[in-house]
Amino acid sequence: MTILDRRELGPSWATSGGVLAAPLPGQAGTRLDCAWDPRVEVRPGAVNAHTHLYSGLASLGMPRASPAPENFLQILERVWWRLDRALDAASLRASARYALAEAVLAGTTTLIDHHESPAFIEGSLDVLADVAEELGVRLLVGYGATERNFGRKEAQRGLAECERFLTSNRRRLVRGAVALHASFTVSDETAREAGAMARRLRAPVHVHVAEDLCDVHDAKQRGYPGPLERLLHLEALPPGSIVAHGVHLSAEQVRRAEAMALWLVQNPRSNEGNKVGYPTAIHASRMVALGTDGWASDMELEAAALMRLGHAHGESDEALRARLTTGHTLAGALFGLRMGTVDAGAAADVVVGVPGEPPRHVVIAGRCVVRDGRLQTGNFDTIRAEAREAAASLWQRMSAL
Ligand SMILES: [Zn+2]
Repeated sequence: MTILDRRELGPSWATSGGVLAAPLPGQAGTRLDCAWDPRVEVRPGAVNAHTHLYSGLASLGMPRASPAPENFLQILERVWWRLDRALDAASLRASARYALAEAVLAGTTTLIDHHESPAFIEGSLDVLADVAEELGVRLLVGYGATERNFGRKEAQRGLAECERFLTSNRRRLVRGAVALHASFTVSDETAREAGAMARRLRAPVHVHVAEDLCDVHDAKQRGYPGPLERLLHLEALPPGSIVAHGVHLSAEQVRRAEAMALWLVQNPRSNEGNKVGYPTAIHASRMVALGTDGWASDMELEAAALMRLGHAHGESDEALRARLTTGHTLAGALFGLRMGTVDAGAAADVVVGVPGEPPRHVVIAGRCVVRDGRLQTGNFDTIRAEAREAAASLWQRMSAL
């Protein structure tokens, strides 16, 4: 049990069965002092609604692609689709450990991951899930089925990995999704199978949609107005599915996504970095959460990028601020918990700290994972050293591909 001790300034909270409760007098447990500095706030942990733990080593000296990519597809082909093919179990584990440790140290308590490692498909979701469970962070995982390397067989193996995970996972902090890479790298059969599997297993589908115009052009060539219409026509997006990006959706398409109960996830830093554009119509849905798309899970930095880019594109402060809380509703739906508030009965996923400074304490599902700014569920120096080592050999394998 964790007790958030705020006796002098306001209510104290204890955790009971992973949710917050009012403490009883004399209750014993780990006491986290958050009353000695009046600037300290207790707030809900942040949610990263779309990311890629497989790219967690990229900040550790990944060599620049040569020749330098000039468009989105070249970025995928020369960087991420080479990195993912070079991954094995050990490098994936090191990558996930580093990315998730950094996430909790930054106050992010739930992450929604979209995974691909074409040379290590079977069992890959267990690697991610085990790391999340060890470090004590909430995670949704799904293998992004695709046909881009080895055709239909590859997609079937990706979907089978999702099914294997969904039917075997019993972890407390991890949930599963059925995932597709994107409309433009899958056939009709694969998209249909993903939708059918998700409905059968009562799981969401997690997929990139209209991130770049290449996805829209591909869907048009196949006879659809766009990738959203194609995936809906193939029944690949059951209600509650997670649609990343939507940069090139019209207001009408965004409204349709909301009407179909689809979560959209905006990734401001990634969209800016990849030069794919700004999702100018995304305001037409109230179901828009914030993700980092593989950038570090510091949601305050991502929120700052959202405000900067949103204002530059004429969005209102109110609309942008509403987007900062949607992730809690999405995560709450995934875990069957109330999130986004710090009161009795809400998930005990809380961050204690001074706004604008790194968190002092982080509690997830009642467990103290960061105390006085230090990771409690692993040795961060060791995690970083192992990540550096794994990164060096990953860059070597990548250069040979
Ligand atoms: Zn992504």
